[in-house]
Amino acid sequence: MIDSFDSTWTRNCQRSVIKWFARNARNLPWRATSDPYQIWISEIMLQQTQVKQVIPYFTRFIQLFPDIATLAAASLDRVLKAWEGMGYYSRARNLHRTAVQIMTEYGGVFPQDMESVKNLKGIGPYTAAAILSIAFNQPYAVVDGNVRRVLCRLSMWPEAPQMLHSKKFLQSMAEKLLPKDQPGIFNEAMMELGAMVCTPLEPNCMACPLARQCRAFQESVPSAFPVKSPKKVRPHYQVAAALVWRRNELLIARRPENGLLGGLWEFPGGKQKEKEPLKMTAEREVQEELGVKIKVNNLFMVINHQYTHFTITLHVFSSEYVKGKPQPIGCSDFRWVRVEELQQYAFPRANSKIIEELLRMPVRP
Ligand code: SF4
Repeated sequence: MIDSFDSTWTRNCQRSVIKWFARNARNLPWRATSDPYQIWISEIMLQQTQVKQVIPYFTRFIQLFPDIATLAAASLDRVLKAWEGMGYYSRARNLHRTAVQIMTEYGGVFPQDMESVKNLKGIGPYTAAAILSIAFNQPYAVVDGNVRRVLCRLSMWPEAPQMLHSKKFLQSMAEKLLPKDQPGIFNEAMMELGAMVCTPLEPNCMACPLARQCRAFQESVPSAFPVKSPKKVRPHYQVAAALVWRRNELLIARRPENGLLGGLWEFPGGKQKEKEPLKMTAEREVQEELGVKIKVNNLFMVINHQYTHFTITLHVFSSEYVKGKPQPIGCSDFRWVRVEELQQYAFPRANSKIIEELLRMPVRP
């Protein structure tokens, strides 16, 4: 493990990584600009999503909302629709809210000081450092998952990187490594190195510009780092949802603004209680969410879906509206819509599979 950062070692790391990046950087759409707005959007999209998936979303998002003013003026529904399929929808809600905040508090100009940027909704210290260093070349070190892995291997850090004191050590190491005259490029280069060369399973050390400086490589143990923390078991839930038909229309509900998948539309339903038959779960949830009595009929389809911290099996039942005027009791809004209209609403990914199936049905009630 490296316990002191020799200045020659540091300088060699900086030069090698920057030189490597100049030759090997991928041509990504957000790299063609220093516009803080576009860098902000890309950083938020990249938080929990892979580069390959982000590229088309980013390109379309910038076409739809080319600047802060356009994003702030758009409806939340339009922003959520543009985000549909990417998951972690609080990111889209925060982007929209923050665009409004920048318009009202900063006259539509992206702020340039750390305190102001960190105070924007949805922007933590990591994202603030990325935006300020890449867009404005300010000397803030960025430590994302890729950089963390490179640093753990360079230094043979002996503990799991998720631990608090590991985070402190890695942050301080990144700060010491950062060249103050080229912080943006260096941060991008380190992230790229982690993504393309120092990969989790099989680091390509023979192609790595840091091989000479890397302790793990010198000791022939790169794959032993970062040290792993014990795995947590993800809970699994049984969930029932109802397709509530009234003539040729379906009842959809909007999830409350705050919380998982907030603001998205869904077919009403929820978690099964202990020993409760699934049909009863669907009936109870519709009653609790919307105050509507339904008659649950046959099973329409079953979907298995993974979220970050849990997994679900979603049982979708066809059902008929019986009585009661729908009210937004456990949801924020509701609509009766025809199947062809469903695609105008932003749904979570698990529900999108139901819509695909509904659109394939040759005959609908
Ligand atoms: S030499 Fe290998 S382990 Fe070390 S930083 Fe480079 S790719 Fe990662």
